[in-house]
Amino acid sequence: MALLERKDVASSEDLEALCAQRLRGARWPEQVNCPHCHSEEVTDIRQYMDVFQRYLCLGCGRTFNDKTGTIFENSKVSLSAWAEVAYLLTADEPVTVIAENVGVSYPTALRMVRELRKSSLLHTLEEVAGEKLFRPWKQLEFESVE
Ligand SMILES: [Zn+2]
Repeated sequence: MALLERKDVASSEDLEALCAQRLRGARWPEQVNCPHCHSEEVTDIRQYMDVFQRYLCLGCGRTFNDKTGTIFENSKVSLSAWAEVAYLLTADEPVTVIAENVGVSYPTALRMVRELRKSSLLHTLEEVAGEKLFRPWKQLEFESVE
């Protein structure tokens, strides 16, 4: 039995783009600054994987993208899957349930949970998942009691 009811999401690409947009907004609400040297002299360059904006820092000459310097930087797991984990974690689901629902191995789910617990981006992702990915957790729980 599925624990959550998934909403009809336009496509996984759209969801990934939305997650990337939220990540960008949460990291840099006013002004993008370089994670290497903190300069605000930054220009947009081409997108990375069609979703994540890539930037060139005019201060230090290095490039970075929306994920650089976050827990997602070196992750092979999609940002939308991270959002799903964040949602289930916030709903106090155990790691075994999270791994099964998201479709990752237990060690991967455990690592994601540990990193999200330390991250200020946990609630940003949880919100996106709640709005776009699933029916509200509390509502579903209420309905299942009926
Ligand atoms: Zn820089």
